[in-house]
Amino acid sequence: MQHPVRIAAPALAALLAASSLAAQAPRVPDGDPRVRQALEHARATEAQTVEEQIAICQIEAPPFKEARRAEDYRRRLEALGLRNVRIDSVGNVIAERPGEPGAPVVVISGHLDTVFPEGTDVAVKREGTVLRGPGIGDDCRGLAVVLAVARAMEQAQVRTRGTVMFVGTVGEEGAGNLRGVRHLFQRELAGRVGYFISVDGTGLGLTKDAVGSHRYSVTYRGPGGHSYGDFGAPNPVHALGRAIARISDLQVPSDPRVTFSVGIVEGGTSVNSIAMTARMDVDMRSVSAPALDSLDNRFQAAIRQALEEENARWSQGDRLTMTVDTIGIRPAGAQGDDAAIVQAARAAGRSLGFDVPAIASSTDANIPIALGIPAVTIDGGGRGGGAHSLGEWFDTADSHLGTQWALLFVLTLAGVR
Ligand SMILES: [Zn+2]
Repeated sequence: MQHPVRIAAPALAALLAASSLAAQAPRVPDGDPRVRQALEHARATEAQTVEEQIAICQIEAPPFKEARRAEDYRRRLEALGLRNVRIDSVGNVIAERPGEPGAPVVVISGHLDTVFPEGTDVAVKREGTVLRGPGIGDDCRGLAVVLAVARAMEQAQVRTRGTVMFVGTVGEEGAGNLRGVRHLFQRELAGRVGYFISVDGTGLGLTKDAVGSHRYSVTYRGPGGHSYGDFGAPNPVHALGRAIARISDLQVPSDPRVTFSVGIVEGGTSVNSIAMTARMDVDMRSVSAPALDSLDNRFQAAIRQALEEENARWSQGDRLTMTVDTIGIRPAGAQGDDAAIVQAARAAGRSLGFDVPAIASSTDANIPIALGIPAVTIDGGGRGGGAHSLGEWFDTADSHLGTQWALLFVLTLAGVR
């Protein structure tokens, strides 16, 4: 016999609201037997994932010279039985695992490049569970996790609604200026990507907001001369000093956080010469695109005023000139906590027994986030430190959780059929 259950109006409204929310929030397919099998595979073969992490890392991948590691990565993706495995015109490696036509495409990627110059000793040393080597976490870990996700899906024969693409990008670090991921969204995969996940770094956290950056190299130039004999001519080093003083006094908000720094200064040849050039490299950052643009405008005004002041101060010799070279522009963007992709990442983590903290950072996800395409960067599990230094390390204890999280997150977004 059924007992009619009476629901008060407010409770009914809440129930309806909850059910419509549940319809929108991506469902974690952790009850599916093949998904369970894939998760178990990811756990059981974590030692193999770590071996791949080491092998990938022992192939140098300096900025703009990722080709050898890319070719190795292409072979590894091909060996997993993925389709349409290729290296695109900028050097990204791409492989596909087809789903149903019309369903959103999910991209999971790691970055191939490191910050280390050619000739760096990239041998990985092992001490117990700890691996030591340049790039071992950032981002050999991400590359290995991307492979492990593909392997687990293949092994358990998981069938997804959305096509899943497995990618290794070039040019994530520094001067690379995100050129690999830019190419993906402007050309190679333009208009095709529903969700983008970058696996980068260590731990079990999430980057949901994109810290944008504007970076410039500013150079003041003049004829130079003798410090005594040519006194009275404008001095590029003095112009640079004026510029730095003005930049130092710029006022910026703390919420949204906006930062600036003169990172490098260079110029002059000897103590008794008026310099011919003086240069500085400047970095400005924020998660807010308007706040970053506003700072950039005031910075541009400051360096121009410094030039005018120095030229006005002195009557002799040729006038100084100024050139501004763009080192890199990374777009900013923020996503709400209620964004489906953020909820899916958190729900997948909860299903595996951990909470996922979110931060703002500058990663490959900046490009899609700025375009309004749902994107996050997730950590690859384990623990690590010393990124961008020769002392970089990665602790493999419980690192399988990172692999499983990436796998379950991809399957939550792609949907299982
Ligand atoms: Zn990285």
